[in-house]
Amino acid sequence: MRSWSIPVGRLLGVDVRLHLTFLLLPMFIYWTESNAHRGNASGARDLALAGIILVCVGVHECGHMLAARRFGMIPKAVILLPLTGVTLYDELRSEKPQSAMPQWKREIRLALVGPLVNLALAAFIAAAIMATNRGIELWKTPFLQPANLPRSLVWANFYLAILNLMPAYPLDGGRIQRAVFSRALDLSTATRRSVSISTAIAMVLIFAGPFTDLWLSMVGVVVFFAAQLEERALVFQSVLDSVHLEEVMLTDFATLSPADTLEDALEKAVHSLQDDFPVVRGSDMVGVISRQRILDALRAEGNGYVQAVMNKIFEVSARQESLGSAFRKLTARNSSIIPVVEDQRLIGIVTLQNLMHSMALLAESRKLRRGGTES
Ligand SMILES: [Zn+2]
Repeated sequence: MRSWSIPVGRLLGVDVRLHLTFLLLPMFIYWTESNAHRGNASGARDLALAGIILVCVGVHECGHMLAARRFGMIPKAVILLPLTGVTLYDELRSEKPQSAMPQWKREIRLALVGPLVNLALAAFIAAAIMATNRGIELWKTPFLQPANLPRSLVWANFYLAILNLMPAYPLDGGRIQRAVFSRALDLSTATRRSVSISTAIAMVLIFAGPFTDLWLSMVGVVVFFAAQLEERALVFQSVLDSVHLEEVMLTDFATLSPADTLEDALEKAVHSLQDDFPVVRGSDMVGVISRQRILDALRAEGNGYVQAVMNKIFEVSARQESLGSAFRKLTARNSSIIPVVEDQRLIGIVTLQNLMHSMALLAESRKLRRGGTES
């Protein structure tokens, strides 16, 4: 699905991608206009209207992103579609919310921000237009028209707010619906149910379009694609939350002793695929050290002992912990290895390197199990 979008820049420090369905929009406006005016459409104005819609979607997503940051979530990329956007969050670095507010409430607030931003913008621009009194008739149909861009700006925002409140996941209305479902169901069941409802709505819109207004088909297509984008993020999230460390940890690994010299340690490292090593005295875990650290120390200070350069502050995990929690520990400490211990005994290690591999494999195998044909 990534190939369906192209990078177009950055917004609030987040990568912005334009979904290819957005290219349908100027064509669609041009086509509607030339039908209405018997071939008299103005290409430049049609493009400008598409641009206005793009900006309104961008502003809508900025609202979500700013609100999400306040909840400790870290936006990673935003994909702009013709009437909505999909913001992907960095699940690994985002904090697990500590606040007292239940998750479903937070989701509802987060969802409402986008439409509210558009409504506020519509009201503000409408007020500005009325104040300047330039003879722009706000209430004249058609509301969205390339010939009257200021009026279109007001109504584009209004329509975006209303459309995004449709209960079609991942539109904001659909997110609210999912949040309500999630009070009684677990999150992935709630999401799947919302996605089914959303797909049904998309299909109805797509087929109703030719008999009523083709814009409905356009909305249906966008909802369909947006749901696909979210679905993918969801598979990743479910792997993070449901896989336990014991399923992916390395049980056959090399260890170092604090009494090893750095040259000995390097010698051992050469014979191992590991980049990171637990340092063990007897059966006690006393530190961790990376191949790079050994090399750096040897270069800077010559030969010494592992004891002196190893990292003595490290996080350990239990075998039942989730992948997501291990990832958060790794990134929080900026380390690349987590020892897995049981009764203070080292039973395995999880390294960033091996996590990356297992994540990709697990996501693939789940998709296969669910019979997904998407590639
Ligand atoms: Zn939204």
